Amino acid sequence: MPACPRCDGPTGEKWIDISVPLRNGMVHWPGDPRFEIHRVKDMEGGDSANLSSIAMGAHSGTHVDAPLHFIRGGASVDAMPLDVATGRARVVAILDNARITPEELRETALRREERILFKTANSGRVWKTDSFLEDFVSISTEAAEVLARSGVRLIGVDYLSVGGFGGGGSDVHRVLLEAGIWIVEGLNLRGVEPGEYELVCLPLRLEGAEGAPARAILRPV
Ligand SMILES: [Zn+2]
Repeated sequence: MPACPRCDGPTGEKWIDISVPLRNGMVHWPGDPRFEIHRVKDMEGGDSANLSSIAMGAHSGTHVDAPLHFIRGGASVDAMPLDVATGRARVVAILDNARITPEELRETALRREERILFKTANSGRVWKTDSFLEDFVSISTEAAEVLARSGVRLIGVDYLSVGGFGGGGSDVHRVLLEAGIWIVEGLNLRGVEPGEYELVCLPLRLEGAEGAPARAILRPV
């Protein structure tokens, strides 16, 4: 089939959806509000249209963390420059099954202003269940410090937090956000090969909020 010139990349590559579906019963961070959607008007029940109501934490599924998430007076998500999460991005494979470490980052040769998405063992397992998995691969504080010094602009991870569960997660967030790095969490990079891509990721324009759900898509460049 010929490539659609409007939808596909210059060489016909398709967009890949790397966001997770929002639905009742989906996984959420322990203690955060669960995602809920229900019909308040239903044509099956005689209404003239279908209409849904949603309730959710701002960090449900695929979402962006703004500096305000961990920094008093930090920028809110609606202040994110539009070009932060749109443009060239690199998907980097992480082999360590527990942590993203400074040693592994050293091999990736981080570049200033780069957008980096970490594909870890999470992508192959965590989205298969609606239960929260405590042992997901996360960024170590030491690796966060390496990222902070590297001058990267945005990082993305393939589960619900950059930091691990049960301690240390706040430090990892703080180190990254204080360095001016924008964070995308809750990506599904299953089936995405490491390499160079074009990224489009736009969080909802929630005024004054510390984070917002986002749709994120990639295509090879
Ligand atoms: Zn978050």
